[in-house]
Parts: sequence; structure tokens; C-alpha cells
Amino acid sequence: MDTLLRKVALPSDQDASGRNLGQEEIAAVSEAILSGTLTSTKGRFVKTLEQRFAARLGVKHAFACSSGSAAVHCAVAAVDPEPGDEIVTTSITDMGALAPILYQGAIPVFADVDPRTCNVTAESIAAVLSERTKAIIVTHLFGNPCEMEPIVTLARTRGIPLIEDCAQSFGATYDGRHAGTLGDIGTFSLQQGKHITTGEGGLIVTNDDALARRIFLFINKGWGYGDPEPDHSFLALNYRMSELCGAVAVAQLEKLDAAVTRRIELAGQLAELLRGVPGVSVPFVGPRGIHTYWKYCIRVDADVVPEGVGGIARLLREYDIFTAPRYIQKPAFMCEIFQKKRTFGKSSFPFTLARPEAVDYRLERFPGTVEALEGILVIPWNDRFSEQDVRYIGEGIRVSVDTLRGVR
Ligand SMILES: *Cc1c(COP(=O)(O)O)cnc(C)c1O
Repeated sequence: MDTLLRKVALPSDQDASGRNLGQEEIAAVSEAILSGTLTSTKGRFVKTLEQRFAARLGVKHAFACSSGSAAVHCAVAAVDPEPGDEIVTTSITDMGALAPILYQGAIPVFADVDPRTCNVTAESIAAVLSERTKAIIVTHLFGNPCEMEPIVTLARTRGIPLIEDCAQSFGATYDGRHAGTLGDIGTFSLQQGKHITTGEGGLIVTNDDALARRIFLFINKGWGYGDPEPDHSFLALNYRMSELCGAVAVAQLEKLDAAVTRRIELAGQLAELLRGVPGVSVPFVGPRGIHTYWKYCIRVDADVVPEGVGGIARLLREYDIFTAPRYIQKPAFMCEIFQKKRTFGKSSFPFTLARPEAVDYRLERFPGTVEALEGILVIPWNDRFSEQDVRYIGEGIRVSVDTLRGVR
């Protein structure tokens, strides 16, 4: 192993080293606590957050909720699938984006991804649409927006609601428009490791009044707060964000633009450093998209670099650079939930209602996904990295590739 590099401790998004949590958040939380009102139904912080987030994205409605998973659940509940209806989603995403589909009695139908970006495409979505498709959910993976124009056109032409999962893509744009506002509903996560955080938390945006009404009710046990004669109008949970998180979120939101700018700037530096490293490709970003680098995902050609991503990850560990070869290891549909259809008791509901083709979760149906996961190495990314940190990562990759190729 090379001794060229002196070890650097990289900032981590799991603690203070890599999070911008400070006096602003403390002041806001103190104010929330001293107000004595910690529920968003009466307090002012969550309302402020919702107003500011809507204004930032230029949308009519924004709602805060308890997690990114809850945000996706609200979006699915808003489109109100019948049991057994299908919701097209992506094979490379967080389980928090998939479980809500099953909880609403709908069937997740996976679209394959473009191996260059790990994102779904209009073609891969079109290939799995059926007369039972109730909604499409796209994920802008790692902060890199999907190629949206053909996807939006497809959804509009077929009259299918389009949901954008932006848990990893705060600040991302396509054609200058904010990710989350190109479709019908956008969802965001404020979990510990996202661009900004409240520990746990989520946001949902929409311009559609009817969808907004259902989202509001779904967050609030179906209870129509503010109605003349409120009632529990349909089955729903309590997905509210508390004022404590709301206070942190209001302060965090002020820091989002700087974080996004810095992440993009540092990503440009790493791309420079990796230029000419054999077998390594930097993220592919379409000409209409702005990628905001939740993570920095490189592709490695195992024909050029022996042992490929696994080898590089192993060598980088010796530098205390902890990367994720193959990201989620296996496509979402290879998890037990799907393979064994483990849902409610022994029922397998709602899979029992599915068309067999819709739940054909075999790897060979997803060549893009297999190719994508085989070749990617996900590098932690952080707006608190220094330029020296980025040089360290770049050198670490270069040295690892050279070592594996036997030229060092
Ligand atoms: C993190 C994440 C979620 C879930 O968000 P939580 O706040 O962890 O519930 C959903 N989708 C994607 C793409 C994510 O990265």
C-alpha cells in the first residue's frame, strides 16, 4: 500500500464534523421550547417552514411531515390508489420510497434504469405501464435529476400523476426548474444524512389544490383542522412534524443554498482530479440538469481496473475513506419484502391482487439495473469538505486504481 498519503479525517454527515448545526438552530429550538407549544397544529415554526419552502420552490403548497418515507406515503395516499393498482417506481432507491406503496395497498412495479445515471427513463417507464398504473414515482438519485421532459410528456399523455422523490436532490434543477415541481407532487427528506437535516423529517410540495387537501388530511389522521365541521374523513395516520424539528428546519433552510453551491463546486474539483484516471468515469449529468451531489458516484470499468469497485473500496478503506460499492448492494426488488412478499401477517396482501408480470421480480428483467449497480462506487459527499479533503479523496482513488492495475 502506498504511503504517499497522510491520513485525513473526513467530515461526516453523522456528526458535528459534517453538519451545519449551530447557534441558529439552538436559538430557534429555544424559542420553540419556551413558547410551550410543540405541536405544529398550534405553533408557528412548522407553518413558517412550509411557507418558506413553498416560496423557495415557487409552488402553491408545501407541507412538513415526520420523514421522507412519510412524505412518499402522503404522495401515494393523495393519488388514492385502489387496492391492486400499480405504481411505477425505480429499482434503485431507498426502501422508504417503496414501503408506502404497499401500505396503501398498491403494487410497486419497477422500471429499469439508465446505467449511466442509475435513474429511470421515459422508455423504461413506458415499458412497464399498464391499464392499472395509478402513478409514477421517479427518484433523482444522488442529486442528479432524471431526464424529465420525456417523462413529464409520457405522464401527461397517459393522464398518470407523476411524483418526484427528491430526498437526495435538494436544490437540483432541470431546465432551470426545481426538482419536485416538474411533476404533480415532490417529496423531500430531512433525515440525518441528507443535504440539510432535522434528524428525521420530510416535506411535500404540490401546485394541485385537490392533492394538497388530501396530503394535509393524510398528515393529520384525516382530520380537517380549520373546517367548520371537521371529521376524520378517511383512513390516515399522524405524520406531523413537531415544532422542535420545525424550528431546526427553519434554520437549516437558510443554509441550504450555500450547502448546495459548495457541494457542486467541490464536485467540479474532484472531476478535475479524476480526469485521466483509467477506467474511472465521473457522474454523467444531462445538459438540462443541475446535479447537487448528495453523494458523488463514480463508475468503474472492471476490464480496466482489476477487482473493480470492490477493489477500490477495499483500498480506500485503508485511507479511512468509506465508500459504498454497488450502493444498495442489490436492487430493491431483491429484498425479502419483495422476494418473499412479506407484508401483513401471512396474507402477502397486496401482492395477492397483482398481475403476475407486474411482480416478476427477476434480475434478468433489469439489465440496466444490474449493469448500473455492478460498476458504481458511491463516495460520501459533504459541503464541509475542504479542498484538501477533496484532493485526498481524488489521490486515494488514483493511487487505488494504480495499485490494482499493478503500475505502482
Ligand atoms: C432517504 C430517502 C428516503 C426516505 O427518507 P427518510 O427520511 O429516511 O424516511 C426516500 N427516498 C429516497 C430516495 C431517499 O434517499
